[in-house]
Amino acid sequence: MQFCSTRDAGRFAGARQAITQGLSEDGGLFVPAQIPAADLEVLLAKREYPALAAEVLGAFLTDYDPAFLRRAAAEVYGPRFGARPAPLARAADGMYALELWHGPTCAFKDYALQLMPRLLVEAKRSLGREETTFILVATSGDTGKAALEGYRDVPGARIAVFYPSHGTSEIQRLQMTTQPGENVAVYAVQGNFDDAQSGVKLVFGSRMVQDELAQRGVQLSSANSINWGRLVPQIVYYFAAYQQLLEQGAVTLGDKVDFCVPTGNFGDILAGWYAKRMGLPVGMLVCASNQNNVLTDFFATGVYDARRAFFRTTSPSMDILVSSNLERLLYHAAGDAAKVRGWMESLASNGRYEVEPAVMERIRAEFAAGCADNAQAAAELRTQFERAGYLCDPHTAVAFKAAREYRARSGGAAPMVVLSTASPFKFPGDVLAALGQPAPQGEFEAMEALARHTGQPAPAALAGLRTLPERFRQTIRPEEIADVALGRK
Ligand SMILES: *Cc1c(COP(=O)(O)O)cnc(C)c1O
Repeated sequence: MQFCSTRDAGRFAGARQAITQGLSEDGGLFVPAQIPAADLEVLLAKREYPALAAEVLGAFLTDYDPAFLRRAAAEVYGPRFGARPAPLARAADGMYALELWHGPTCAFKDYALQLMPRLLVEAKRSLGREETTFILVATSGDTGKAALEGYRDVPGARIAVFYPSHGTSEIQRLQMTTQPGENVAVYAVQGNFDDAQSGVKLVFGSRMVQDELAQRGVQLSSANSINWGRLVPQIVYYFAAYQQLLEQGAVTLGDKVDFCVPTGNFGDILAGWYAKRMGLPVGMLVCASNQNNVLTDFFATGVYDARRAFFRTTSPSMDILVSSNLERLLYHAAGDAAKVRGWMESLASNGRYEVEPAVMERIRAEFAAGCADNAQAAAELRTQFERAGYLCDPHTAVAFKAAREYRARSGGAAPMVVLSTASPFKFPGDVLAALGQPAPQGEFEAMEALARHTGQPAPAALAGLRTLPERFRQTIRPEEIADVALGRK
C-alpha cells in the first residue's frame, strides 16, 4: 500500500517511510492512496484485541512484516490496557461509552502512542537507518504524557514535549513534569496550545535547523496525529466497539452504529471514518467540540475560520483552533490535492478557507457536528452520573451532549457510541464541581473526594503522582523551541 501527500497526489511513500518522515516534504499529510476493504466477518471474528489490531494494522502497513505487527500488538495491548482493551460501557439514555482510558496514562492516546515507537524503531531498523530520531511534540495535555511514556528509553530516539504554560489541567501537567526516562525533556511554553503547535511547526519547516541536526546524525520527527503511525492504531477500536455491540446483542451484523467523538485535532474521529471506509457499518460520525467550535461552524457553513477568540475550557485537550487532520478528510472528499493545497495556503496566510458546496455535501452525508460550553458539559456530566451512575470526564461529557442533541435532531435510532477519551480522575476538581460537590483546593484532595463521592477508585498512575518529584520546570517562549531542538536550551 502506498501513501500520498494531501497536497500532491503524485508524491508517494511506503508506510515505513511515511511513519519515519511524519509530514510529506510539501507540508502535506500522508494518506493511504486506496483504503483497503476489510472482510468484516473475518475481522470481527478476531476477538482478542491484539489479533484484531494486527489485522487492521496489516491492512495499511503492508511493508511491515506481519509477524512483527502481531508481536508488537500482543506486547502493547496486554495487561497495561486492563482486562479487556477498549471496553464498552452502558451510559444514560441508551448511549454507550467506549472507554479508551484504561492504558498507562489514562487517555485514549495510549492506544496509538504505546505502539507508534515500535513502528518507528522497526521502520528504521528494516530501512537500515541509523540516525537518532528526535521527537518534538506540542501538546494540549494528553499527547505529551502519552508520547513521553511511549518513547521513554526507546533506543535511537529522544523526545521533547512542549505544553502551554496555562492550558493543561494540574494533573496533566504533573504527569509530564514528573516523567522518568533518560531521553525525555519537558518544557512549558508561554501561550496557548496553538502557540506551542505553531512554534513546533516552524522548527519542522526550518531548513537551517534540519541541516544542522542532520550533520549531527539527528532527524526530527513528530508524535502528533499528523503522523500516519499515530492514526492507524485508532482505527482498531471502532471495530472493537462493534464486536462488543454484537456480543451484547445490541446489533446484528450489518446494522449501522453512530459514533460521537470529542474532537480537537480531528484524528480520533477521522480514524472512525477510515474504519467506515474499510467496511465497518458506521452511520453518522458526530464531531463534538467545546466552546472552541471552529469545526461545528465549518460543518454548518463550509467556512473554516480560525480567526476567533480562543477559550480555555474544562476540556483542554480540545482547546484547538487548527484541526490538522481535517486536511486528510478534505483530500478524500475533494479528491483534489491542488485544491487542498490552496485551502491550506489560505489558512496559513488568511486564517480561513472556504470549501465549495459539492464537497461539503459529501462530507455532511457522513459527519454531523455539535458543541457544548463548560456549563452544558458539566450539566451533561451530572446527568450521566445521576441517571445511569456513569462517570465520565469533561471531554467525554462534551461528546455526550453533542450525541444527545444529534439524536434529538435526527430522530436517530441506531446505537450511539461515545468515545470516552480520558479518565475523570485527570480532572477531579472540575468533575466534582460538575457533580455539584464542593471541590477541595488541592488536586489530590479532589481526587480523593471524587473517589469517595462516586465509590470509584482513582487510577494508581494518577494517585501516585503525588509523591513523585517534578523533574522539569523550565518555561520558554515559542521562538525558543528551535533552541531546544538544537540542544541550546
Ligand atoms: C486528544 C484528546 C481529544 C481530541 O482528540 P483528537 O484526535 O485530537 O481530535 C479528546 N479528548 C481527550 C481527552 C484527548 O486527550
